Amino acid sequence: MINSTQWFTEQVPGAGSAFSLKIKQKLHEEQSPFQFIEIYETETFGNLMVIDGCTMVSTRDNFFYHEMISHPVLYTHPDPKSVCIIGGGDCGTLREVLKHSAIERVVQIDIDERVTRLAEIYFPELCESNNDPRAELKFIDGLQWVKDAKPGSVDIIIVDSTDPIGPAEGLFGAAFYRDCFNALSANGIVIQQSESALYHLKLMGEMRDAMALAGFGHFQTLFFPQCIYPSGWWSATMAAKSDIGRFREQDANNKHFATSYYNSAIHQAALACPEFFKKALAL
Ligand code: SAM
Repeated sequence: MINSTQWFTEQVPGAGSAFSLKIKQKLHEEQSPFQFIEIYETETFGNLMVIDGCTMVSTRDNFFYHEMISHPVLYTHPDPKSVCIIGGGDCGTLREVLKHSAIERVVQIDIDERVTRLAEIYFPELCESNNDPRAELKFIDGLQWVKDAKPGSVDIIIVDSTDPIGPAEGLFGAAFYRDCFNALSANGIVIQQSESALYHLKLMGEMRDAMALAGFGHFQTLFFPQCIYPSGWWSATMAAKSDIGRFREQDANNKHFATSYYNSAIHQAALACPEFFKKALAL
């Protein structure tokens, strides 16, 4: 929603709060076959992508999310080679994953090709690794792709999806997690954006329950800032098939690529569990 004084506002239903950005101009809007996509030029956050009224990505702060949904899991799995990204159409997560030279193959499956085509125009820096020979971009439903994946063929599944409504609803259900479990190799880990612990605690509990029902037995949640998302405080949850790997701290310390937020101290700190979260999830 944009008002007469050029502020874009996303209200959070039920939370009695909202986040606003001052807009310079609307650059684009379209109804794709799946969702309503808007692109704005903001005064201080660069470009902003909004899907169905919800902020997705801004030029200025996307690095928190993209780095935290990729590097912690890549430095937790003992030896990742094959990664699949479900959603992630802005391609920022893909770019981060491909910074790891040991990764041999990344398949990104976003249901909506228009998100990627618009990211190429308005967020070209996020798309700079799209032509990496290790990357494959598919535009189909991630639910179906995971169902059809060869058992044991993927080391890490990153679910970089929209909120659990519309096409992403099934990506938060036990049937999807069961397909993830089957697609993952023995040390496999799935990581999924898990919304805000302040606003979506119930959903976070239900997500873990559904993952447990699907066979996952080991969980870790990472907490990190993301000011354009509801409450400004976001999370991602890892679920492992076997024991969750030990953080390869030495490898993270010796990483040969640049990051803006992630480092090994941030990784450790992001795993610290708030007391109210432990209590609510009986951890
Ligand atoms: N970082 C964002 C967030 O947490 O709000 C997510 C960004 S990314 C643009 C989300 C993507 O998930 C969208 O491009 C959307 O098309 C995709 N998506 C939603 N449901 C999907 C599904 N069932 N299969 C594959 N992609 C899906």
